[in-house]
Amino acid sequence: MCGIIGIHNHPEAATLAYLGLHGLQHRGQESAGMVTVKDSGLQCHHAMGLVADIFSQDVIDRLQANHAIGHVRYSTYGESHIKNCQPFLVNSMLGSMAVAHNGNLVNATEIQKKLEEDGAIFQSTMDTEVIVHLMAKSRKKKFIDRLKESLCQVEGAFSLLFLTKKKMIAVRDPSGFRPLVMGKKKDSWIVASETTALDLIGAKFVREIEPGEIVVFENGDYKSYRLAENLPKRSHCIFEYVYFAKPDSHIFHRDVYEVRKGFGQMLAKESQVDGDIVVPVPDSGVPAAIGYAQESGIPFEMGLVRNHYVGRTFIEPEQSIRHFGVKLKLGAVKNIIEGKRVVLIDDSIVRGTTSKKIVRMLRDAGAKEIHMRISSPPTKWPCFYGIDTPTRSELIAAKKSIKEIRNYIGVDSLKYLSVDSLYWFEKQSQREWFCDACFTGKYPVGSDVISNLI
Ligand code: AMP
Repeated sequence: MCGIIGIHNHPEAATLAYLGLHGLQHRGQESAGMVTVKDSGLQCHHAMGLVADIFSQDVIDRLQANHAIGHVRYSTYGESHIKNCQPFLVNSMLGSMAVAHNGNLVNATEIQKKLEEDGAIFQSTMDTEVIVHLMAKSRKKKFIDRLKESLCQVEGAFSLLFLTKKKMIAVRDPSGFRPLVMGKKKDSWIVASETTALDLIGAKFVREIEPGEIVVFENGDYKSYRLAENLPKRSHCIFEYVYFAKPDSHIFHRDVYEVRKGFGQMLAKESQVDGDIVVPVPDSGVPAAIGYAQESGIPFEMGLVRNHYVGRTFIEPEQSIRHFGVKLKLGAVKNIIEGKRVVLIDDSIVRGTTSKKIVRMLRDAGAKEIHMRISSPPTKWPCFYGIDTPTRSELIAAKKSIKEIRNYIGVDSLKYLSVDSLYWFEKQSQREWFCDACFTGKYPVGSDVISNLI
């Protein structure tokens, strides 16, 4: 998954983009990058790692300019490698251009193959690069027409930011899979994956970039275009609400926190259990656990506490420290857990390995019973639109029944939220506006390509 930010017309664009990237760090921790516009041309800096480690004051000073785009990445297509860091910078007949992409193109491999047969040489293994090649190949005169022609050939999820010497361009795919919002800070325009990045830099939320909209920012103003006349139905990613987006963001016209808390309330209505305490798996299970506790009347307790300062560790302990990996990230509060019937809330189970370890940790801390409640339906299908999910064979709910999963992770009971309750916040007629393929296997775009991949 990825996060993108763009700043148009601010004398400290590099600083604002850097700060905004901090607000989007949860969307990708593998690499980060920024491109800014100087009189001399486009300046770029990217590296593997976290935003705070990549951008020093010196780097920001060197990049400082009036316009900037930035990107944080967790690879879902193409390897985790420096050559795949974004924004992706190219020089072509069109001049210099940088692009930052959130989402996944379903038909990129197919298009890349055709382009290579025609002699194209690819620099990266990223799906984003096919867009740039299609633009370079287009016979259209104007940038906007080349962009439209290229994007009409790709299928899948794309929230994009382009930067040229004069313009910043924001695009959202016709289905609106990934969020993309627009904000204002005095005379400057900001585009970001989530509103949390706008809040962080003191910008005011203006509106979402609409599905199928192209917004061209130039000379401190903007113009809006449509990618195509006939757009498909919307397919906002429901997993953004379940897990991905930050709870203080407002995306797809709703507050993420409210929607997520509602999942917990619905879960309590659907699968009540006698428990003494409701405990979230932090941080992802917290809003749903608050909802569950409020609805059920069972007290909320932070029985598990997250260590926020864990990076990657290469120093493995001796065998004697059991469940070391999870202990680095989480600690159980013994006094709270001991002798209690715990209702444990998490947002999702993917492979099942984390839940199994957490359950052991709670048993070691003396839990009397553990009833696991998941604030989304079973994750049975991989995502091809930008969320990093393993193959179908690695998804525990694709292979095992709920009873088998319960036995595997070692809980006394296990219940998931139903697909119906997932849409508690939406009118029946507008449920169609969401993509829930990870739960239902109904892929709204590129299903012919996807059926050959699963
Ligand atoms: P596991 O079942 O051990 O594979 O991991 C499940 C946990 O991973 C859940 O608690 C989720 O909060 C978290 N999770 C779910 N989806 C993702 C994702 N795409 N990337 C990273 N973590 C995720």
